[in-house]
Amino acid sequence: MAAFDRDLFVIGAGSGGVRAGRIAAGYGARVAIAEEHRVGGTCVIRGCVPKKLLVYASRFPDEFEDAAGFGWTVPPASFDWPTLRAAKDREIDRLEKAYVANLERSGATILRTRAEVVDPHTVRLGDGRTVTAERILVATGAWPFLPADVPGIEHAVTSNEVFDLPALPRRVVVVGGGYIAVEFAGIFAGLGVETTLVYRGEQILRGFDRELTDKVAAAMSRRGIRILCGTDVKALEPAAGGVAAVLSSGETLAPGLVMYATGRVPNTRGLGLEAAGVALDGLGAVRVDSASKSSVPSIYAVGDVTNRVNLTPVAIREGHAFADTVYGGREVLVDHALVPTAVFTTPELGTVGLTEEKACAHHPAVDVYKAEFRPMRNTLAGRDERMFMKLIVDAVSDRVLGVHVIGPDAGEMAQLLGIPLMMNATKADFDRTLAVHPTAAEELVTMRTPSVKHRR
Ligand code: FAD
Repeated sequence: MAAFDRDLFVIGAGSGGVRAGRIAAGYGARVAIAEEHRVGGTCVIRGCVPKKLLVYASRFPDEFEDAAGFGWTVPPASFDWPTLRAAKDREIDRLEKAYVANLERSGATILRTRAEVVDPHTVRLGDGRTVTAERILVATGAWPFLPADVPGIEHAVTSNEVFDLPALPRRVVVVGGGYIAVEFAGIFAGLGVETTLVYRGEQILRGFDRELTDKVAAAMSRRGIRILCGTDVKALEPAAGGVAAVLSSGETLAPGLVMYATGRVPNTRGLGLEAAGVALDGLGAVRVDSASKSSVPSIYAVGDVTNRVNLTPVAIREGHAFADTVYGGREVLVDHALVPTAVFTTPELGTVGLTEEKACAHHPAVDVYKAEFRPMRNTLAGRDERMFMKLIVDAVSDRVLGVHVIGPDAGEMAQLLGIPLMMNATKADFDRTLAVHPTAAEELVTMRTPSVKHRR
């Protein structure tokens, strides 16, 4: 008789947990996976996927506007939020079913309940039953952070609620400067909502290349989004027509919807981890080694709950690497250094590798190649918005350290640019690559003269 009920108990059926559970079961492990909300987790249910659907919706006004320059007469367009919301819900239901089917096909057992850790080999389910397992994988993700010291904060919504609003507001204040905040500012503005973005820092999208964040902020402002940096919300007050935000500048914004996107905290509260001996950091994230093992040898953690790089593909890769290493007989470590990523603002930002600031901090000689131009489509459309691309090159080794793009399909480009950067491509490799003409991306292989040379 087996010493434990299960070989592996996974807590949380999101990006990381589902992948780990499915692959481990495929290797023959007896896997159970508990989910207290919906299978698919943040990404599928209230994150990446529904957000991208809303981003698509928010960009149609550009299409209608641009069509005239190409000879089209477009009938007056109108937008219906309940139609979009229902279509989005249908797509999420479909994806959730696909996740469930894949998990079940792998042989894992799904338990639709909350689970908490009792000791290094035991979890307690919502109904009080306990299950023992040789290993426990914590994949509980993260939760939106709301500052408790803002009076009236209970009147704000977060990304958890925003996808299911009964109606689209006339006005919105989005609080925060990270990618979720700026993406939602873009979505609301695109859907015709009067949008203000309030952020306490000096510039939105901290951590991204500064020249790009300046350009994205300027482009968003030109599109009618009011961006207030260096500004705090002092209080939220219910008023006719919504909630009014009282700002540190003394201004009170007209009432509307207030959405907070001021960071996310690892989902470890009440999980029983500390009592089981699992070390957490100051934010509550599970401390793990490079193999995602916690301070308790039988307890592992992957994804946002470890607060490493909080993105879906990273959680998936960590879950897969855990299963390969522990159940597949081959050690796989995740490289967190080079993570291509996108910010789905309009215009979009795509990026991979070092920013100009970081490259200069770590390399004595850096060449920066830049191109700024009006994409071809914008000419007939009569649209002024420009595209921007930047290559950061180590002038000593000729290695391309970073590539940053603003403009249509920048996220798609970032994905492909991730491959040469992963392979340590040099600027000479970019130069000898033939262009695809006429495209915007061809600029990436035709930049010949550095715009800036940093030397120290
Ligand atoms: P999650 O996907 O959050 O899954 C954790 C699961 O655990 C949840 O389903 C939760 O219900 C469950 N759970 C928690 N506690 C328990 C418990 N005690 N018992 C049982 N179940 C439990 N990433 C990108 O790469 N690209 C994007 O464009 C992107 N956009 C985003 C937009 C938004 C609005 C948000 C909020 C996030 C976005 N992300 C994006 C981040 C991405 O969603 C996360 O990095 C990813 O979902 C993390 O996966 P995970 O497995 O760690 O956790």
